[in-house]
Amino acid sequence: MKIGKNGLTVLEKRYLVKDEEGKMIETVEGLFDRVANAIADADLHFDSKADTKQTAKEFRNMMTELEFLPNSPTLMNAGRPLGQLSACFVLPVGDSMEEIFEAIKQAALIHKSGGGTGFSFSRLRASGSTVKTTGGVASGPVSFMRVFNMATEAVKQGGTRRGANMGILRVDHPDILQFIDCKKDNADITNFNISVGVTEEFMEAALKGEDYPLYDPRTKLEIGKLNAQEVFDKIVDNAWRNGEPGIIFLDRLNRDNVVPSQGEIESTNPCGEQPLLPYESCNLGSINLLSVLKMDKDGTYVIDYEKLKRIVNTAVHFLDNVIEVNRYPLELIDKTTKATRKIGLGVMGWADMLLRMGIAYNSDEAVVLAEKVMGFINENGRKASHELAKTRGSFPLFSESVFASGAPLRNATVTTIAPTGTLSILAGCSSGVEPVFAFAYIRNVMDNTEMIETNPILKQVLVERGIYSDKLMKEIIAEGSLQHLPEIPEDIKRVFVCSHDISPMHHIKMQAAFQRHTDNAVSKTVNFTHDATREDVREAYIQAYKLDCKGVTIYRDGSRDSQVLNIGSVQ
Ligand code: ADP
Repeated sequence: MKIGKNGLTVLEKRYLVKDEEGKMIETVEGLFDRVANAIADADLHFDSKADTKQTAKEFRNMMTELEFLPNSPTLMNAGRPLGQLSACFVLPVGDSMEEIFEAIKQAALIHKSGGGTGFSFSRLRASGSTVKTTGGVASGPVSFMRVFNMATEAVKQGGTRRGANMGILRVDHPDILQFIDCKKDNADITNFNISVGVTEEFMEAALKGEDYPLYDPRTKLEIGKLNAQEVFDKIVDNAWRNGEPGIIFLDRLNRDNVVPSQGEIESTNPCGEQPLLPYESCNLGSINLLSVLKMDKDGTYVIDYEKLKRIVNTAVHFLDNVIEVNRYPLELIDKTTKATRKIGLGVMGWADMLLRMGIAYNSDEAVVLAEKVMGFINENGRKASHELAKTRGSFPLFSESVFASGAPLRNATVTTIAPTGTLSILAGCSSGVEPVFAFAYIRNVMDNTEMIETNPILKQVLVERGIYSDKLMKEIIAEGSLQHLPEIPEDIKRVFVCSHDISPMHHIKMQAAFQRHTDNAVSKTVNFTHDATREDVREAYIQAYKLDCKGVTIYRDGSRDSQVLNIGSVQ
């Protein structure tokens, strides 16, 4: 078993099965056996004589070798009574009391099972418009979001996950200004990430400084105009202040909607990487890129593409099986998910892979390699889905999909790049496609002692060069970075760049490179230093638009009272 100390702590705290008194009744080996067996059993749905023991072995090895891990709900719930395995859901919110509170109830059931939910509030009538049955005045999307937020707070997911939501409002909704400001106070609507759903029409108007129309969500008639540049600046100003709202490019999500007959995509999951149709869910899984490096004859690290291909094949098989054995929280979600069979295979450990290969994250070489690696995964993932379709059939809506005239496919989408917040801790690698946040930091351990945690790849290099010392580590901790230290040789400084050493433009270039080879979207935060200006943020948003990203999330260091990652110390 390859799992390290931090990974074991997370498993013990949150994933291993406990009895009613909270005593652990599962071992780490037991967990991976439970998951592998439950997921392999799905093969029997297609072949009553399938060798599920052999498949379970392949699945288990892939997980215990830390080559691939499925999203957290699969690890927690597979082979257990709850059996809910998906990380992401999108629920529709209709413009009536019944529909609004139905969505709250559905979300509560999903949160209880460890899933996250995304909603578009764009169908709700504007605040101040009339309510026919009572003659009263509607309170509008933002006030209803607060009710969703309270419900999420109350559910708390049985102690495992807190509940996460995405709230989206179209930029042409009459309440858009109120929405942009709704998280101005950081203590407000804390269980939501919010994003403005922008349209091409809006972006073009914003770049030209023109007005754009607002539409009544019910009649679809134009009911006013706003200046696009002013609205854009307001979004930028708020994002600069505390990181929200993000933006998503709605027309791009729908340009890449592979089954347009099923309606429009209006929302993503909580972290933005998975656009979904209403009532769809998606199962994610991530390949640990560190696990596919091998040492070349000359002692340098290269990518073992044969191994990567094998992992991709097994991972697609695994994720397609997850759809079969998943116990969905609602009948309708079961039906909708199985109609398109979307899976989201992605990567983690990308920054670590670059460090090992001696390539700087903020170099053109890294961008070229990103395209090559993700292109390989996307192409082979699709081939694997095609192979599965030969024996299992294509996804039921295939004939209505954009693929209808081509080779059959088992899954309408194959790739997604998730944040891998927990998975990367289990695998002991950098998260998703993010750069390393800090190369050394202080971890507070339980008995109040402090431990220095150093990036293992940096540590190895410094030890090999004979320059590792506790004193040097303390100097790195102060800034997270090593760029300011005269004792570190230039060739190390060039490669070992952390989030804040990388310009926002390079963050976006990397996001765009992965996006070009990802069916769904890419979870990525563009980090700014504390002294970045609003103009810098504005420029980043425009670059993301120009480079065909599907959305942008930014964060300026120190702009929230409580932030997840802090230079100097990380919990
Ligand atoms: P993990 O590493 O735990 O598998 P990720 O950090 O990759 O999860 O997040 C993937 C998706 O899982 C998110 O976009 C979101 O849809 C869902 N998710 C993450 N954290 C939570 C949470 N606390 N509650 C509910 N859903 C979550």
